[in-house]
Amino acid sequence: MAMLKARSILVTGCNRGIGLELVRQLLEKNNRPDKIFATCRDPEGPGAQNLRNLAVKHPEVEIIQLDTSDPSSIKNAAARVSERLKGAGLNLLINNAAIANPNCLDSETPEGMAEVYKTNVIGPFVACQAFLPLLKKAAQESPQKGMSCSKAAIVNMSSEGGSITTVLLWNSNAHAISYRCSKAALNMLTKCQSLGYAADEILCIAVHPGWVQTDMGTAQATLPTNVSVRDILNTLARLSEKDNGTFVNWEGKAVPW
Ligand code: NDP
Repeated sequence: MAMLKARSILVTGCNRGIGLELVRQLLEKNNRPDKIFATCRDPEGPGAQNLRNLAVKHPEVEIIQLDTSDPSSIKNAAARVSERLKGAGLNLLINNAAIANPNCLDSETPEGMAEVYKTNVIGPFVACQAFLPLLKKAAQESPQKGMSCSKAAIVNMSSEGGSITTVLLWNSNAHAISYRCSKAALNMLTKCQSLGYAADEILCIAVHPGWVQTDMGTAQATLPTNVSVRDILNTLARLSEKDNGTFVNWEGKAVPW
């Protein structure tokens, strides 16, 4: 089985849900990264207790404040990460943090649309700009040929709910207009990044994690968080140049845009 050999990884929205489980499972690996930058918007708050517990036990984990709806917080985080990497690059950026609201066509508001778009699209966009120099450095330093998540990659956690082809779960009354539009935009951003950063050998991919049992996915969801994250990490380990600019699910199967 292919192994993820990234030495440094940054994940946004790590205090709960899929983000927290990503950190937990990365730490269980034999070849775990030297540095896991586990970011969240309120590192000192009660909602980050589980993440702080992990960081106390594992010196590889560094908790860093990063609010994806606040570009200055993203830039400060990038400066801090750069300092901590001491001249080395960042192998893998996982844009995981997101918000959703259930509003439908009638009830969604301009403010709701803007808030979701700011967190789910502008946030990942600014994060990629801010961490790009570190990703480029990782790609340049790597002796590996071609593209991979072990070398240099941007993973945008998307949703099949944003697929224009399948509009997943529309018939279950899960309209979530702003959320669907934000993920469709994130998908386009991913495609543009894959084209724009190809010469830098930075792999860019959109991943649908499945319908996962988290606060966002609810307890009715079909996939336990640990199963989704296990499969996502196995998928990331297998990705190569041919996957650049694609949209895949947790198992690595293509999702229609
Ligand atoms: P959760 O709601 O369980 O967790 C969301 C995480 O994002 C929390 O850590 C939250 O932090 C963080 N977050 C929200 N807003 C911000 C912000 N402005 N800045 C920084 N962090 C923020 O969601 P999941 O873990 O289920 O979702 C993770 C990703 O997977 C998301 O991108 C989601 O869209 C995607 N996804 C999930 C599905 C599911 O079924 N669960 C299905 C398809 C896609 P805080 O505690 O501070 O709010």
